[in-house]
Amino acid sequence: MSQIKHPESLMMTHGYKPELSEGAVKPPIFQTSTFAFKTAEEGKAFFEVAYGIREKEKNEELGLIYSRINNPNLQILEERLCLWDKADDCAVFESGMSAISTVLLEFLKPGDLLLHSLPVYGGTDHFINHFLKEIGVHSIGFRADQGKDEIIALIEESGLQDKLALVYIETPANPTNTLIDIEMCKSLTEYFRRDEKSIKLAVDNTYMGPLWSHPLKHGADLVIYSATKYIGGHSDLIAGAVLGKADSMSRVKVLRTFLGNMASPHTCWLLLRSLETLKIRMEQQAKSAEAIAAFLVEHPKVLKVHYLGLIKESSPSYAVYKKQYSSPGAMIAFDIDGDEAAAFRFLNKLSLVKLAVSLGSTESLVQHPASMTHIGIDSDLKIKMGISERLIRFSVGVEHPEDLIADMSHALEAI
Ligand SMILES: *Cc1c(COP(=O)(O)O)cnc(C)c1O
Repeated sequence: MSQIKHPESLMMTHGYKPELSEGAVKPPIFQTSTFAFKTAEEGKAFFEVAYGIREKEKNEELGLIYSRINNPNLQILEERLCLWDKADDCAVFESGMSAISTVLLEFLKPGDLLLHSLPVYGGTDHFINHFLKEIGVHSIGFRADQGKDEIIALIEESGLQDKLALVYIETPANPTNTLIDIEMCKSLTEYFRRDEKSIKLAVDNTYMGPLWSHPLKHGADLVIYSATKYIGGHSDLIAGAVLGKADSMSRVKVLRTFLGNMASPHTCWLLLRSLETLKIRMEQQAKSAEAIAAFLVEHPKVLKVHYLGLIKESSPSYAVYKKQYSSPGAMIAFDIDGDEAAAFRFLNKLSLVKLAVSLGSTESLVQHPASMTHIGIDSDLKIKMGISERLIRFSVGVEHPEDLIADMSHALEAI
């Protein structure tokens, strides 16, 4: 058989054997909580592996036990997701937040220090500053515009440098599309490493993955997704995923087994269907985004467009952009010439484009970060990060770009 080079060629078939399911071309939904063992010996062997009592033998596959531990829909989905990020293993969760909180809980213990980029997703921010803080996990946030030396100084000034256990970043930063250098963050984990125990680097890749950015290649230990966004892509489910190297992933999977926050067979089945069109959806979205950004940048009511395709070669971000991303993506933010009331008039006048949070779906969505997704952030910090009342975030869908531009053009007149 010839070598298959492109993950999209395998999204319909990989990891599924029709002969095990009456020849069905598509995997059925394995709506079952438990699986029958052929013999008691087999049941014992499966449990020994699942509970880490012994290592898997060469060519041994973990048999099906119970749907909190494994299920065919979950396993097929995890195997297919591994292909995009070239990961050793994947764990799919019932939400992006459960993926994120499981990683934070596994790699941080009371007294440890977490270094994270700013801003992070609102739910992540809340988990860090409330739950983790209350159990004694310290955290330091840095902005995308702060360089390596400044970040090192922040950590050293805290006196907690010996406690650094995890670096967690989101790039491009939501909603401003500011970039963070993954390799620079990896070098921070090396700089502060004290002994054998390594400091892990986790990257929330929801905005640009799994198609256009592969953080594991740049030194990340774990890559995290809200699969609710591009991977699901139809605004009809909530899910999350974590991928990475085998040693980190076995820890994530064991904690998932005991928190019980894996995705259900039905959600996994829907995600398998989504993966078949992932590439063509994302490519069309990126193509339309390019046309929309070109329209916005020329519009007299628009002051600035934050879109990766408009980063100037003279900007320090340009090298990071070229190194980390193979496309400018399909997320655009822009500053309108006006205040909150003007922004709201614009939002209220759109008709094809829907006013809703979330992103990455087939339908275009628009929202006002300062008063919606990022309302909880301290106002000084919001201004420093460019989240002003002028800022609009636009997630480009698969509608024809001409129709999207016509809708925007009409609504911009209201400003
Ligand atoms: C939506 C989102 C999350 C949270 O995911 P849920 O699936 O809503 O739990 C985390 N990170 C980013 C960047 C997101 O956009």
